[in-house]
Amino acid sequence: MFIFVEKEELIKKLIREGYLKSEKVIDAMRSIPREIFVPKRQRKFAYEDIPLDIGHGQTISAPHMVAIMLEALNLDEKSKVLEIGTGTGYHACVASKIAKNGKIFTIERIKELAEKAKENFKNLKIKNIVSIIGDGSVGLPEYAPYTHIYVTCSSPSIPDVLIKQLDEGGKLLIPVGRIYGDLWLIEKKNGIVKKNLGGCAFVPMIGREGYNED
Ligand code: SAH
Repeated sequence: MFIFVEKEELIKKLIREGYLKSEKVIDAMRSIPREIFVPKRQRKFAYEDIPLDIGHGQTISAPHMVAIMLEALNLDEKSKVLEIGTGTGYHACVASKIAKNGKIFTIERIKELAEKAKENFKNLKIKNIVSIIGDGSVGLPEYAPYTHIYVTCSSPSIPDVLIKQLDEGGKLLIPVGRIYGDLWLIEKKNGIVKKNLGGCAFVPMIGREGYNED
């Protein structure tokens, strides 16, 4: 009961602050319990609007960032989405509720996190997420093209290989920088249109099109 009240307060705050706008994103965020995606010692902070430690030097994104990204992506019920950086799966679960008749492909390089995410998808009985372990900096060409690709780790540049895996009319959302950077929205529509959505902070993307591991 307490958790339910805290979740509602967070949603109201995100609406008030202008991060949450559309009914579909609000309903989707309301339907996913964030506390199950963080280690037990972090659960009391699950409905604070901050990133939290999920182990392996990684974090679960802050709720306002998930809201900003899902509002910018504007998924529909049938979207075919690629997420790069599953973590423990929170963002993918929220996206899966919007694209309820579509599919979310999500790729994570750290096996233990990908396994935890799979467990979370199963516990929440979510069936439209395909979880893959690997280097997502090169996308996931096997299942391309996607209507939407979003990246939840910060990249040194906008990899061409990701733009190639977008459908015509598709959108790519990617943080560019090293931890601190800008969130870029790229639309593939008779060419490429890029828009800077503003500052953000994400853990680095490690991989072929990302940073070296060190
Ligand atoms: N979407 C997650 C965010 C997790 S943090 C959420 O809902 O909270 C970003 C994740 O990106 C980390 O788990 C990190 O291991 C992963 N990552 C970093 N580089 C990657 C790469 N090249 N391919 C796949 N995952 C990557």
